[in-house]
Amino acid sequence: MHTHSTASDGTDSPSELVAAAHAGGVDVLAITDHDTTGGWDEAAAALRPGMSLVRGSEFSCISATGRGDRPVSVHLLGYLFDPQHEAVAAEQARLRGERDARLRRITEKVAADGYPVDVDTVMALVPAGASAGRPHLARALVAAGVVGSVSEAFATLLYAGSPYYVPKADTPVETAIQMISAAGGVSVFAHSLARRRGRVVAPSRLVELAEIGLTGVEVDHPDHAPEDRELLRRLAGEHGLVTTGSSDYHGTNKTTPIAAETTEPESLEKLVALATGVPLLQA
Ligand code: AMP
Ligand code: FE
Ligand code: FE
Ligand code: ZN
Repeated sequence: MHTHSTASDGTDSPSELVAAAHAGGVDVLAITDHDTTGGWDEAAAALRPGMSLVRGSEFSCISATGRGDRPVSVHLLGYLFDPQHEAVAAEQARLRGERDARLRRITEKVAADGYPVDVDTVMALVPAGASAGRPHLARALVAAGVVGSVSEAFATLLYAGSPYYVPKADTPVETAIQMISAAGGVSVFAHSLARRRGRVVAPSRLVELAEIGLTGVEVDHPDHAPEDRELLRRLAGEHGLVTTGSSDYHGTNKTTPIAAETTEPESLEKLVALATGVPLLQA
């Protein structure tokens, strides 16, 4: 229910992503590239008999933490929304513009410090129309022999708060939830308690967002500790949120296999029943 292709920062093309899902025994796959629906059509065309495709996207958002400190970047999964809905299409286009400009600026800062990377080489790794991200620069740093892996690039140079880090102007999460609903979709808060990535929102925020239309929370995610999965499962039960599980597969940019975490069929049924934007595609 949460995977990335070369339409954003995954390393499999959308058709390779479908093939990887098929090989991994996945019967229902969601494609959720960052801030784009650009991979949907190729993935749909590549579906294998017996497979279904949930068309989605991972929206870059900003949220209050609920703890009184500064806001934090969060990710919201939108599923089965109309990709031509004006507000959604415009906001995703704006975010891709932000991503492009910001990756160029991060690359310039890294290059200015003497690392052997340049803007043209990095941007050449981003296919036309795709969402640019730090993993593209990370790959260029690996190719240049600066670091041994994408995760080492993040740990040493590209982490949030590094001297090279440049923020982007993300969408207020409340706006994104309302926009996805208006486009007929459903929304699931991605990896909300991924503490190893940095600061996270207070559980009370998830309750507030449930009240304004958040549909669900990702519970089983590689970056969630067992006790946080339990907390999220309980909170979801108390507030009528749908629970999902997913690998957040990024091809070789991360090490998690595609079917490492999965979603209960009942959860998928609930999401599909609530959505009116585009149907679940069956091969
Ligand atoms: P950006 O979209 O430019 O803000 O970059 C964030 C993306 O980088 C996430 O969506 C992940 O795909 C990836 N990422 C973040 N941290 C790591 C890490 N430690 N190792 C590998 N990939 C990472
Ligand atoms: Fe990513
Ligand atoms: Fe994410
Ligand atoms: Zn993701």
